[in-house]
Amino acid sequence: MSSFLRPDLLALSAYSTHAPETGAEPPAVIDVLDTNECPYDLPEPLKEKLGWIYRHDIAANRYPASDPQALRRAIAGYVNESGQISGAITAEHISVGNGSDELIRSLLIATCTGRAGAILVAEPTFSMYAILAQTLGIPVVKVPRAESTFAVDVVAAQQAIATSEVPVRVVFMVHPNSPTANPLTAAELDWLRQLPSDILVVVDEAYFEFSQHTTVADVLQRPNWVVTRTFSKAFRLAAHRVGYAIAPTSIIQVLEKVRLPYNLSSFSQVAATLALAHREDLLAAIPEVLAERDRLFAALQTIPAMQVWPSAANFLYARSTQPSNQAVFEALRQQGTYIRHTGGGLRITVGSPDENARTGDRLQALFA
Ligand SMILES: *Cc1c(COP(=O)(O)O)cnc(C)c1O
Repeated sequence: MSSFLRPDLLALSAYSTHAPETGAEPPAVIDVLDTNECPYDLPEPLKEKLGWIYRHDIAANRYPASDPQALRRAIAGYVNESGQISGAITAEHISVGNGSDELIRSLLIATCTGRAGAILVAEPTFSMYAILAQTLGIPVVKVPRAESTFAVDVVAAQQAIATSEVPVRVVFMVHPNSPTANPLTAAELDWLRQLPSDILVVVDEAYFEFSQHTTVADVLQRPNWVVTRTFSKAFRLAAHRVGYAIAPTSIIQVLEKVRLPYNLSSFSQVAATLALAHREDLLAAIPEVLAERDRLFAALQTIPAMQVWPSAANFLYARSTQPSNQAVFEALRQQGTYIRHTGGGLRITVGSPDENARTGDRLQALFA
């Protein structure tokens, strides 16, 4: 093995979503319900507009704007509107990333590399925090959640912070959590808000548009509070890789130093700006997704051997003992329904009405 490669990286497995093919003939119709995107592509007129902009307004031979000010301003406007904090958030509170994954990595670089700190996560949760931390040699402190509600064990978290050999510098929370779909409770928020100011609190609001739960007001009141969001879910731009952080200006200034100068392609900048301008159209699909989620939830609840949890997002979390989660995952996959087996359970994205009907039917048949 190459001796110049870090041994800890050789042991790490790369993040992957869709499970590898088994060699059998794949089903004709694949329902991609393992990555929590919106089931619908951009409306045709918006795609036309994007195509037109690419043909006429973007010089392919030129670098993109290194500081996408117009997009940062548009995001600030949207954040103010969505958080009902009129005008308080400005472009100086926003940094954009090639997906919010890039911002997670930038935050890690800004806080913890060089043995400067460790991160704390409550599992099960979004796996990218720990994966990215490990690639940077950053220790990951893991604490559990309650079995029934998936609320963070704050006593364990407090103890872990007090005893961690490398000081905990960042706490990552998803609101609502993935894969378990529960929003932070008042008690969890109280705990996060009383953390000392030398610990950064990162609240990942990737599913904000579905949950309507936000902590952006905390960004204006606390020096150690960051909210991250994404265009990959409700805004239907997963292909474009655009995320953003909302943070006190002192943190944004450092994120801007860490950010690669051309991290967002010209096309992605335009797509995100256009999506914000047309947000009423795009977000109009959300009530349908939520109604579909509730329908699928009710269908899964009729399966006695399956436990399904309430969801504040566009996916459901369920567990089965007989057959095992792995067996359910496999059986669905063979029929063309891709879901995610993670955190000791199954995470199922709410798709189109047809997809959800198939998911419900297939699960009911499997348990019959
Ligand atoms: C989907 C998701 C994201 C989005 O990541 P991008 O890199 O912006 O696509 C971030 N956090 C969580 C918890 C997610 O589920």
